[in-house]
Amino acid sequence: MYQKESLEESLKYFFGYDSFRPGQRKIIEEALANRDLLIIMPTGGGKSLCFQLPALLKPGLGVVVSPLISLMQDQVDTLRDNGIGATFLNSSLKTEEVRSRELEIIEGKIKLLYVAPERLLAAKFLPFLDLIAEKVGISAFAIDEAHCVSEWGHDFRPEYRQLKQLRQRYPKIPMLGLTATATSRVREDIIQQLGLKNPGVHLASYNRPNLYYEVQDKDSRTYNQLLKNIRAQKGSGIVYCLSRRQVEETASQLQEDGIAALPYHAGMNDEERKNNQTRFIRDDVQIIVATVAFGMGINKLDVRWVIHYDLPKNLESYYQESGRAGRDGETSNCILFFSPADQKKIEFLIAQKTNPQERRIAYQQLRQVIEYAEGTECRRTIQFSYFGERFPGNCNNCDNCRNPKPVEDWTIEAQKFLSCVARCGERFGMMHIIEVLRASKKKRILDYKHHLLSTYGIGLDKTADEWKMLARSLLHRGLLDETNDGYRVLKLNESSWEILHKQRTVKIAVSRKVTDDLISDYNPKAAEAEMLFESLRILRKQLADAHSVAPYVIFSDSSLKSMAQVRPKSLEDFAKISGVTNHKLKQYGTQFVIEIRRFCQENNSENSPGLPSTYMATLELHKQGLSVEEIAKERSLTTRTIIKHLSELIEVEQPVDLDSLVIPVRQEIIMQAMEKVGDKSLKTIREHLGENYSYEEIQLVRAKWQRESF
Ligand code: ADP
Ligand code: ZN
Repeated sequence: MYQKESLEESLKYFFGYDSFRPGQRKIIEEALANRDLLIIMPTGGGKSLCFQLPALLKPGLGVVVSPLISLMQDQVDTLRDNGIGATFLNSSLKTEEVRSRELEIIEGKIKLLYVAPERLLAAKFLPFLDLIAEKVGISAFAIDEAHCVSEWGHDFRPEYRQLKQLRQRYPKIPMLGLTATATSRVREDIIQQLGLKNPGVHLASYNRPNLYYEVQDKDSRTYNQLLKNIRAQKGSGIVYCLSRRQVEETASQLQEDGIAALPYHAGMNDEERKNNQTRFIRDDVQIIVATVAFGMGINKLDVRWVIHYDLPKNLESYYQESGRAGRDGETSNCILFFSPADQKKIEFLIAQKTNPQERRIAYQQLRQVIEYAEGTECRRTIQFSYFGERFPGNCNNCDNCRNPKPVEDWTIEAQKFLSCVARCGERFGMMHIIEVLRASKKKRILDYKHHLLSTYGIGLDKTADEWKMLARSLLHRGLLDETNDGYRVLKLNESSWEILHKQRTVKIAVSRKVTDDLISDYNPKAAEAEMLFESLRILRKQLADAHSVAPYVIFSDSSLKSMAQVRPKSLEDFAKISGVTNHKLKQYGTQFVIEIRRFCQENNSENSPGLPSTYMATLELHKQGLSVEEIAKERSLTTRTIIKHLSELIEVEQPVDLDSLVIPVRQEIIMQAMEKVGDKSLKTIREHLGENYSYEEIQLVRAKWQRESF
């Protein structure tokens, strides 16, 4: 019944998109051919569509197994907002509600059912499943987060093991496993545990091109650095910290600085946590400061940036945590703050572990994270190698690719620095050494008579920042030590002496400051587009609050963005925006078009005039009570033009008094005629009505009809 001519048409019809993402089409074709499938696609790659669209096109009910209640709720909200029959069954529902949903299913009103694994396999539920299979048919089982079946995955759930029963009970119903990350070991496990038969395996790259990766050296004034970064970002973001204390502190510091941020960590009570999470998802606040506990089950697609204030545990965690940004495919930033002091802190924590095996693994994982942070190669190359994917580099969307750090031989500089440490008696910290090298006249230097040292002033050729960078690099690589007693006194070690004795060279990647030019992909015309984007966001937020859903359920950021760029000023043009389905057009189209027109008019933008001032002039005279002919005369325009103005004004709900133009009974009859013939040309409608009705009348009433039927 849903069959459309081509898959692209169905895609636009149900989801409002114009083209498939890489991989989707082939997967969907195979799903329609009832093949078992294993789909590995990074977060935000568009996995859901791979089972949703086939479910809509095939007869029967698609059953989706999903482990997290909040995710189910969200997906179902999004589908329903597109006018698609979807529902979920889980423990959060009252018995009556469950009954009525079950009834809907049996009546064939539902195309997609989301259900938790433990419920699906409960003794009580299985007979119901049999009933569905018999009455309406089951088109497929889609197992989301399929890595949960494997003990080798990062989130093993014993109840997933039971899913094998599905295959035994319904051997003919195709089964799909979907996950975002799976090593080859986990992949084999999924196939085996779910009993997939000769599955089509679709393995997309781990790469998510919309994410920008950057590592910043932590300044000594880290909080200021964070603040500066946050101010440079747009949209929702997450700041990850290591400890609860740090979460609390940072959130309240940000609040003091006038930035609406909320904390989230395991030490807070459930209600508070849930509340903060909801406020974040609903865009009441833009920033959440959290321990890594946050984000596991949340389905917020439009997180624009993730900053790691502290180091992640390992590279897989980093991929997942930073990957909570940009699930809608829009440009997003992932920034990691790194300081050698953090490394020490984590090493200290690891040293507390009693199990030597665990300790060894933890050290190794830390080393990989450090290699990532200090690496001068493409960040993607380093990250994906962790999953066994070879990435060729040159991604042009990480700090290292955008600002390649030239590796330079700084042996002489290192010798200067280290010998200055030695001359100062290994009793001072980094800043003091740098001041001596750069011939500072501070009282402190003179008091210690350090202006008399042979190393005084030998470092004027480098800036203080450059010396800092060198010192840090020496510390990172263990070529110099620092005491851990709070004074951070520099001490030479064996390697330092090798350098001083010319037995070792020092090459460092000379970093440039990248903090200030955080990506802004927008081209010049963009400032205005961005303003419009912001006002559309506000409108979206109002609508979302009115419907009690998250804003991205209404429209994704990318849809808003293209609205802001294309600026559709009629419903017809609005319908062409990616993400606008017929259903959404009816629900929200008018409000968005009005907002876009209002904006264009206020900003007088030349190439997209919104409701041009000429329309407004007509409206003004109409409001004063002038007839069409009088307005035409007054404005030296034809009556046809005035009718056109008024019709378009009606279409976008401007205050045109239609009753004064066409008497209500005639409106009625014209309306009825249009209901009959559909929205055809004026000519068709007139032929139906007869000569008694003028084109002008029909045009005006048609405008009203169009407004109401959208
Ligand atoms: P995943 O489950 O793989 O993390 P989702 O299925 O949630 O990803 O999809 C991420 C976002 O991409 C959603 O907003 C979804 O609507 C959107 N999306 C999916 N397929 C397409 C497509 N072909 N064109 C445009 N947007 C798409
Ligand atoms: Zn790169």
